[in-house]
Amino acid sequence: MFSKILIANRGEIAVRIVRACHELGIRAVVAYSEADRYSLAVRTADEAVCIGPAPSPRSYLNQSALISAALITGCEAIHPGYGFLSENAYFAEICAQYGITFIGPSPDAIRLMGDKVEGRNTMRAAGVPIVPGSDGELQSIEEAVELANAMGYPVLLKPAGGGGGRGMRVANDEAELNRFYLTAKSEAEAAFGNGALLLEKYLPKVRHVEIQVLADTHGHAIHLGERDCSSQRRHQKIVEEAPSPAVSPELRARMGEAALKGVRAINYVNAGTMEFLLDPEGNFYFIEMNTRIQVEHPVTELVTGIDLVRWQLRIASGEHLTVQQSDVQIRGHAIECRVNAEDPERDFMPSVGEIQYYLPPGGPGVRVDSHLYPGYMVPGNYDSLLAKMLVWAPNREEAIARMKRALTETVIHGVKTTIPFQLVLLDDEVFVDGDMSTRYVAEIMTNWLASKTTT
Ligand code: ADP
Repeated sequence: MFSKILIANRGEIAVRIVRACHELGIRAVVAYSEADRYSLAVRTADEAVCIGPAPSPRSYLNQSALISAALITGCEAIHPGYGFLSENAYFAEICAQYGITFIGPSPDAIRLMGDKVEGRNTMRAAGVPIVPGSDGELQSIEEAVELANAMGYPVLLKPAGGGGGRGMRVANDEAELNRFYLTAKSEAEAAFGNGALLLEKYLPKVRHVEIQVLADTHGHAIHLGERDCSSQRRHQKIVEEAPSPAVSPELRARMGEAALKGVRAINYVNAGTMEFLLDPEGNFYFIEMNTRIQVEHPVTELVTGIDLVRWQLRIASGEHLTVQQSDVQIRGHAIECRVNAEDPERDFMPSVGEIQYYLPPGGPGVRVDSHLYPGYMVPGNYDSLLAKMLVWAPNREEAIARMKRALTETVIHGVKTTIPFQLVLLDDEVFVDGDMSTRYVAEIMTNWLASKTTT
């Protein structure tokens, strides 16, 4: 096992990794930007190194500063968390060149799955079902139209190098496809430095169901069941849960086996997530693989009792994954609410400021992953995640009741948060019935805002 590692991230995930390190007896060094000098991760770490000013290109994305920080402090490995450099194949390569272990998969696996065209082709070849669509990058608008006419509308234009639900466009007919093609291409070029687009059949009523996997360096891989992340706003997840109300043990086994086929096809190592869309008939289609730990990983930890971040560290240090597939049992139900510093009444506009008062929820079955403390200044430079409120209960109904209780107990003064909207969501009939698809949140949102203006 490592004796010291560098954490190349911030916010709640940096704190989460520090905690895992301390439980394993590893010294944690946190790399921080000037904006994060007084962060909880810096306070809880054994050492901290400033890697640059607030803007992330000059700090959390500054590869040479991070490598230097690791070398100066004598770290054997770097944990990239999520976002920032976590899916950067080049960074993983540079780490290796300096004799530092990158806590994640190989650069080749990252590169392959970072490109949605390559990802689709690789998974199709491995026998994993994919959404019907283009074989590769779209070469011209004519090709897009021809394919769309053959598949039928609606279709989805998707940036090959995209992420975070950004830059996708649904075209309902040929005129829209013609209209969106060039804009989508130039937007993708501007946002991701890669103008390549692919075309997929747009599946109107689907769930987002993803399978968590763990694989060691000795060829042993398991899946840890699914998370249902259908509660999304503009393709971004806001509430996640495990297990999915739509997944039976039989379907779980089939999806898990499909995910593992993908894992084996690319010799995947470490924690990863295979994302699928699941239709009402029980058909599932691969959309992408995330080659890193995910924000919503704790719901899986709560229902399986398996600590994913600790396993990331153990696997990266070369240990055998001692958990067998038959050891993985899904127990009870877990829900996560992403509490963001955003104002849901103003189109989720980011809210920055000082946390004047903070009282996290507690009591039975509650877990809070957060970097907040009273007096903390929420910087405007990074994503708006403040806290992940998690609950576990023996069944879904009790988990929903527990989450409502936990969110109602929570006090955060100083910034606006998404909690008021999440409470509305938890009371919604579609959610309560477990009947979510990826578009239902938009409808709830519209009704909620309308009720606000009339009362
Ligand atoms: P990103 O990498 O930007 O997050 P994904 O491919 O993971 O993009 O898709 C994000 C979300 O977009 C999915 O969770 C789903 O809600 C929606 N989506 C993606 N592909 C399709 C599709 N073919 N049909 C319907 N919805 C889709």
